[in-house]
Amino acid sequence: MFRTSFFFCLLAAFTLQSLTADKIKVMHLTGQSNKYHSWKGTGDAINEHLKSAGIFDVDVITSPAGGEDMSGFSPNFDNYDVIVLNYDGAEWSEKTKAAFVEYVRDGGGIVTVHGANNSFAYWPEYNEIIGLGGWGGPGLYDPPLNQVDASRHKSRNEDWGPRVYWFNCRLVHDHSPGSTSHPAKHDFIITNRNPDHPIMRGLPEMWLQSHDEVYSNLRGPAKNLTILATAYADQKLKNASPHNEPMLFTVNYGKGRVFQTTLGHVGAKDDASVPSVRNVGFLTTLQRGVEWAATGEVTLPVPADFPTAYEATMR
Ligand code: ZN
Repeated sequence: MFRTSFFFCLLAAFTLQSLTADKIKVMHLTGQSNKYHSWKGTGDAINEHLKSAGIFDVDVITSPAGGEDMSGFSPNFDNYDVIVLNYDGAEWSEKTKAAFVEYVRDGGGIVTVHGANNSFAYWPEYNEIIGLGGWGGPGLYDPPLNQVDASRHKSRNEDWGPRVYWFNCRLVHDHSPGSTSHPAKHDFIITNRNPDHPIMRGLPEMWLQSHDEVYSNLRGPAKNLTILATAYADQKLKNASPHNEPMLFTVNYGKGRVFQTTLGHVGAKDDASVPSVRNVGFLTTLQRGVEWAATGEVTLPVPADFPTAYEATMR
């Protein structure tokens, strides 16, 4: 009896080891969002999609809630191959911010999902790392962000850098004035602009994204930025951008790889069942983007149920 259970203990230990040993170590960092988003709903979708990919070992790190003391929040970034940011809220301590920048500069991977690019409008290195961001004014948060200095009360606009869009088969930097915006949620076509990039290889030229926001006029330093995919909003809608707006893009920062998906709106009262995060195009590009940010390669295949330009698919 003793021998049998000892054997099974060994077997269980070995199986656990073989299940996690070769997996990509992911930190999913979350815990705050502005008053228009649900970090919980977005986070449930991210966790499910990373788990189903089968190649990630995910730790969820949850910050103190908005308005609480952030001084003790210092996750150990160096234990991970990639940090998935589903966080939009209060600034971290100077020590934590410095550790984050060093992690990316030394070759760490970063992925931002939708509203994570609204965060940290007044942290210059963060804006460099993510390339482009949106909004971020302290009044968009509940409670409002504690930006004591009155010069820090704006949302991202031309002061942060150019807007970037796709025109005549190339990336354009446009320095004309304007703030970030988006039209109402709708179904729209995503166009693959970089079919040779590992994240995009094998994906169709166009596919349908479901009931999501076309983030538009994002502003930032936009250095070392590569557009992977764009969208052109329904022009009948208020605040529709007249440009092919970047939806998926990468940034190189030091030795680090950054992947940004602007897709995946989950409203404050929504959960992970909304179509924007059930869409197979959203989840596939998220999974492949996380693998690429961690390793520089993509081994995950394009699923058979990937959406077409005519039909969205959900899971
Ligand atoms: Zn949103």
